[in-house]
Amino acid sequence: MLKGHCLCGAVRYETAALPAMETLCHCTMCRRAAGSPMVGWFTVPRESYRLVAGEPASYRSSEHATRTFCRTCGTALTFQSTRHPDEIDVTTCSLDNPEQLPPRDHTRASTRLSWIKLADGLPVYAEQRPKT
Ligand SMILES: [Zn+2]
Ligand SMILES: [Zn+2]
Repeated sequence: MLKGHCLCGAVRYETAALPAMETLCHCTMCRRAAGSPMVGWFTVPRESYRLVAGEPASYRSSEHATRTFCRTCGTALTFQSTRHPDEIDVTTCSLDNPEQLPPRDHTRASTRLSWIKLADGLPVYAEQRPKT
């Protein structure tokens, strides 16, 4: 069971699913949404993501995407796309223990900030991870 919460603790969630697609996203929208040079995400089936406490706020961050965040402290929590309605992406660092889910790669690196120097040896993809 993976559990997570926002900074102020008002929102708590859990998921019993096996996570997939752990990544560090360098896209400009993730960066701005989190105020961070890159954002760690993992993906689980939509129905496995369960709110345990609180009710996050949400907004349309693009034509196909909805993001949620804590309405009190602003912690970025999830990303959902109408292109993948059965999936939900969750911010890795909202987990109680982000050490549980290290990233497997870097994605959207075509917009990586020039002052971010990658030295972790992980695959770097200009856009999305290639389909396997
Ligand atoms: Zn909060
Ligand atoms: Zn992104």
